[in-house]
Amino acid sequence: MKKPAPLQLTVENSTQVTPNMQRILLKGDELANFPDGCEGSYIKLLFNKEGGVDLSKLPQGERPIMRTYTIRRFSAAKCTIEVDFVRHLSDDLTSGFATRWAISAKVGEAVNIAGPGSIKEINIEADWFLMVADMTALPALSAKIRQLPTEAKGYAVIQVTEKVDVQQIDVPENIQVIWITNQESLATKVKALIWLSGTVSIWTACEFDAMRELRSYFQNDKQVDREHIYISSYWKNGVTEDGHKVLKQQDAQQSQ
Ligand SMILES: Cc1cc2nc3c(=O)[nH]c(=O)nc-3n(C[C@H](O)[C@H](O)[C@H](O)COP(=O)(O)OP(=O)(O)OC[C@H]3O[C@@H](n4cnc5c(N)ncnc54)[C@H](O)[C@@H]3O)c2cc1C
Repeated sequence: MKKPAPLQLTVENSTQVTPNMQRILLKGDELANFPDGCEGSYIKLLFNKEGGVDLSKLPQGERPIMRTYTIRRFSAAKCTIEVDFVRHLSDDLTSGFATRWAISAKVGEAVNIAGPGSIKEINIEADWFLMVADMTALPALSAKIRQLPTEAKGYAVIQVTEKVDVQQIDVPENIQVIWITNQESLATKVKALIWLSGTVSIWTACEFDAMRELRSYFQNDKQVDREHIYISSYWKNGVTEDGHKVLKQQDAQQSQ
């Protein structure tokens, strides 16, 4: 997504679905133009330098600060998208703009977004599937897993902040869903799984360091073909999204 063309949406509803997840329903006529298959794609929420959503005083040519979130559900008929925000908060008021906004957003409030941008599709030419997500990627996993064939088998390993953050998600019958909390390492849990026979298709999105550990495991230890892997970091511990973006670019160059 190179040049974001902002579009203004309104908060239709906001619910704390679990203690560490805020679900916001956003509405806007222009959402009718979003493509049908955009569940699991991402949008950028746009902020000014102070973390506010008013972009009217943004100097000409200056880009807003952007934060990336997943379209969990989309309704073209109702012109709405549903977005889930992990409620992570530190005392540092110079960051965490998106989380701070989501926690305090009121019905009727406006926010600017750009998008949607799509992510790589799951390769369904496989004997089994392994889907791995932390809480930031739970919205994307819950959308992408609906695209698997009904007879799909394998695992979905999902890390949430606390046990009470476990959600009901729709998964094919033969996909075993394994929930863990932040008390356990996502990579360790995945490495302990019994590796099934045949060709695997992998979908993984999580924190940067966990992503690197898992990528090495899939590519080097398990020799999974790149065409059967979608793996992405959605955030980096201790770094804002702007810093994470730089690290991600460096990592992509090094891992080619
Ligand atoms: C394609 C894509 C889709 C994404 N979809 C979602 C989504 O649907 N829901 C969602 O919640 N996130 C999603 N993310 C992750 C989200 O963009 C980041 O978590 C982002 O940093 C949040 O912005 P912020 O303004 O709250 O915090 P920032 O200002 O970016 O960061 C402030 C501090 O918070 C820390 N931090 C950031 N995220 C977390 C976290 N989850 N837990 C603990 N500390 C954190 C940072 O390391 C930093 O120290 C997605 C990312 C990508 C790339």
